[in-house]
Amino acid sequence: MPKLFGTFGVRGISNLELTPKLALQLGSALGTHLKNRGRVAIGYDNRTSSEMLEQALTAGLVGGGCDVISVGLVPTPVLSFAIKHFRCDAGVMITASHNPPDFNGIKFWDSSGAGFQRAEERKIERIISKLAWRRVPWGRVGGTHQVDALTPYMRAVLATVSKIGRELKVVVDCANAAGSVATPSLLTRIGCKVVSLNCQLDGAFPGRLAEPSPENLKELAQTVMASGANLGIAHDGDADRTIIVSETGEVLTGDRVFALVALHHLRGRKRPKIVTTVATSSVLDDVAEKLGGEVVRTRVGEPEIIEYFRKGRGDIGGEENGGVIFFDWLPCRDGILTAAKLVEMLAGSGMKISELDATLPRYYQSKQKVGCPDELKPKVLKALEKRFVGYRLDRTDGLRVVTDDGWLLLRPSGTEPIFRCFAEARDAKRAEELAKLGMRELRACIRKLS
Ligand code: MG
Repeated sequence: MPKLFGTFGVRGISNLELTPKLALQLGSALGTHLKNRGRVAIGYDNRTSSEMLEQALTAGLVGGGCDVISVGLVPTPVLSFAIKHFRCDAGVMITASHNPPDFNGIKFWDSSGAGFQRAEERKIERIISKLAWRRVPWGRVGGTHQVDALTPYMRAVLATVSKIGRELKVVVDCANAAGSVATPSLLTRIGCKVVSLNCQLDGAFPGRLAEPSPENLKELAQTVMASGANLGIAHDGDADRTIIVSETGEVLTGDRVFALVALHHLRGRKRPKIVTTVATSSVLDDVAEKLGGEVVRTRVGEPEIIEYFRKGRGDIGGEENGGVIFFDWLPCRDGILTAAKLVEMLAGSGMKISELDATLPRYYQSKQKVGCPDELKPKVLKALEKRFVGYRLDRTDGLRVVTDDGWLLLRPSGTEPIFRCFAEARDAKRAEELAKLGMRELRACIRKLS
């Protein structure tokens, strides 16, 4: 059976790999998967192929007897919100998030507003591989309803964050993508003076690439400094993630964005629980300590964090890429609420963002990788465990070696024939040393087992 779904739904080059035919089949399969037909919310980003794919998906769904609630061009968290707000049985978001503009993607969501788990995606793949979709008789073909999800979403966000008491100048960089329809106007309504950068919708993403990495945020950093702004905010293509730039032009990593938001959002809660992955910085442990709470580390990936929240408990979830999940809000990363919370925190503190950041310990990281054939990965992992006997080991995902002054994560990639080596410590030299140790042991194991 062909595997259609990757880490973030079905992704591919628009109209070449991700065709209207495939979108139609995915719509038909989802309609079949939802046994009693039902209502399905569809949203899409502003990529050039998104409306085309929406129409094909819609045809598949209504042909299977579902009603389509079309929410139009929205960021991903707004689609998640719309599923619950309009009491839908499922949702579909058409976006390729941070990928280049020639890509697009289709991701399915359940009735709670969370992304499909792998098991549900397997069911969809099975229906498509067997061409086993249901078509309803002519009299039961579903209908399509255009709705406005953005207005109720904005109203709901405004009800959870307070209007700020001092003037803040904020530069917002949406990569000419979906966040442009929400974040600039939301922050203005909270009381910010917003300078918008790359906030005109353009599916070619001419301003910058949609991944908010430091090398793509140079213009934002320059604009923040040149305009004397208090803060710079950048989203990825579908605005489920946020990265920030301080008033001095420094790009804060996703770990630190998550840490600051957690500190603000959880203040005053009794023993709050922060859910993150084994790849996220120890700065979250420091935040948990400040709050009298705890950190739970899951396997890598947003679905793993959501799954933990469903089974256990948790107050906030997040990853090192700047995606934050507010569990009492939506079971979905929300870059827009993250931006609003950061502004609220900054305004309330009376401090500069660099000063807020300086209240957290600084960590240094080193990320490396080495080629490793897929079939060797389990054996390499076993051999690594023996080489690190005597250390504190965490086997949640790959091997996490915890030392007194840092940690090392050795983890096989789920998508490429490589092994990743990720080290963190309180100083740069030690992080490099740990990474060197990890790479040396990794190479030795791979050589021995090849
Ligand atoms: Mg995204």
